[in-house]
Amino acid sequence: MIRLGSLSFSWLALCLAFVNLGFSQQISKTKPPGKAPTVEEAKAFVEEAEARLLALSVDASRANWVQSTYITEDTEILSAQANERAIAAGVDFAKRATRFDGLKVPADLARKMKLLKLSLTLAAPSNPKESEELTRLVASMEGTYGKGKYCPEGQEKCLTLEDLTRLLANSRDPKQLLDGWVGWHRIAPPMRNDFKRYVELANKGARELGFADTGAMWRSKYDMPPDSFAKELDRLWNQVRPFYVSLHAYVRNQLREKYGDVVPATGLIPAHLLGNMWAQSWENIFPLVAPQGADPGFDLTEILKKRNTDHRQMVKYGEQFFTSLGFELLPKTFWERSQFVKPSDREVVCHASAWDIDNVDDLRIKMCIDITAEDFNTIHHELGHNFYQRAYNRQPMLFRDSANDGFHEAVGDTIALSITPEYLVKLGLLIKSPDASKDIGLLLRTALEKIAFLPFGLLIDQWRWKVFSGEIPPEKYNETWWQLRQKYQGVAPSVPRSEKDFDPGAKYHVPANVPYTRYFLAHILQFQFHRAFAQSAGCQGPLNRCSIYESKEAGRRLNDMLSLGLSKPWPDALEAITDQRQMDATAILDYFAPLQKWLDEQNKGKPVGW
Ligand SMILES: [Zn+2]
Repeated sequence: MIRLGSLSFSWLALCLAFVNLGFSQQISKTKPPGKAPTVEEAKAFVEEAEARLLALSVDASRANWVQSTYITEDTEILSAQANERAIAAGVDFAKRATRFDGLKVPADLARKMKLLKLSLTLAAPSNPKESEELTRLVASMEGTYGKGKYCPEGQEKCLTLEDLTRLLANSRDPKQLLDGWVGWHRIAPPMRNDFKRYVELANKGARELGFADTGAMWRSKYDMPPDSFAKELDRLWNQVRPFYVSLHAYVRNQLREKYGDVVPATGLIPAHLLGNMWAQSWENIFPLVAPQGADPGFDLTEILKKRNTDHRQMVKYGEQFFTSLGFELLPKTFWERSQFVKPSDREVVCHASAWDIDNVDDLRIKMCIDITAEDFNTIHHELGHNFYQRAYNRQPMLFRDSANDGFHEAVGDTIALSITPEYLVKLGLLIKSPDASKDIGLLLRTALEKIAFLPFGLLIDQWRWKVFSGEIPPEKYNETWWQLRQKYQGVAPSVPRSEKDFDPGAKYHVPANVPYTRYFLAHILQFQFHRAFAQSAGCQGPLNRCSIYESKEAGRRLNDMLSLGLSKPWPDALEAITDQRQMDATAILDYFAPLQKWLDEQNKGKPVGW
């Protein structure tokens, strides 16, 4: 579901963007005054950057596509080389852009300059030794994570993260679950010292660029002062927190009925019992907590299979959703070049992704489609990326991306929210949609996936920002991690933890230096978009039953937003759909209103909160 495809400049930056900017404010102050740059030079520089980055991005996309759909040693090398070339160019342009600091240029040009510099997620210090050390540290931490395995005592077979993910999702034996949880978290302590050093060096690089620290650099990407952005996130979380607390209380009760005293009647839920290694989404325990009669009375997977729906037809359904909104058909090449079916004769990356190879209209998806309800959903989600990519393809290269990094995922997810029973009736897949009494089951499942995620989506960077700012010292890495998990998620480890552990390192994005706030934003935005579209589409009933299928008005608004790309600050893009310039989590409360009411009834007289 992650967009791996379009190799836009900021994608490169997200990927690893390593920069040795080779300058510092001190140095530039003592430098002999050179000839002051002109606006004309700035313009020419940006034009050169855009042309070069576009060309390199297309090369890299082609190499990555071949690598993902035909994995061999050679294709892996070719794609790594193409990525390196593109990244090196990005770093070089970011470095050269600083020459124009302080020059007054037209707004568009200023925005492009800013994007060139802000797209970095890691700034290496100008000292070459330190820069090299930082590169090595990140590669090594990522490698340690990637190779991480749990080898249970007395067993021959070691368990990979994939094995352990399945175990956490499917086992209902608390001992086995705890063993898997503890086993995986053992991969992280060896990273602790590297992580500490990485924080020092990354901060040094960020400070040379004029940021207070790396966390402040990350927060600067949101068209507002870094501290205001942090406050915005708090505000959004507080809007939705009471609903999360209700969900938490209900789930705690149900788990207690299933597992007994392992789950306390009040307080924190043991982190290993929620169906996921990080307790970040809880849909895997739906069968454990589902109310009686939660079954919606139809099974889309069964329907699709019975009708002998083929892979192409699955994708056609998705395309038809967008054309019903007024979007053009996908290009012929999409159907010729996409990968829908897992090839039988070679290794491929099956993880679903959407691509825009030439950054114009060579759109593709890469999936190994199963004829299931889940993949029906995923197709709608992936095509959301493709239609976004095509909508901004007339923007200058540096603006060919989503309004902020939360938007791309939010669009795909918004579209998937429109896959309602009524939509399936319109497609002729379902004869009659189930009545409203079935909604609680559907809503609960969605809440376990999306609402349970919110506190986790927030806390990873809450922790990292404090680590980067020095508020959390290394000797408190683990203690503060669990304080935040307690504060936001209401979960706790079932075995004592200490500073010998390094539990944040057991989540990929921490060792790999990937910012996480975008996922929180995407989860907030998708409901806000959906609520606004529901109004445009004239939906009368509850939000969870509204599909914007066939609404030209919703389609027009969507296209207005998508076609802005990254050319304007994100509040402009938000306004194009919602008429609001602020993110707003009350749409989540509206969407789940029937479930909130039901949860309150279930929780009556029982402890709520922790
Ligand atoms: Zn996605």
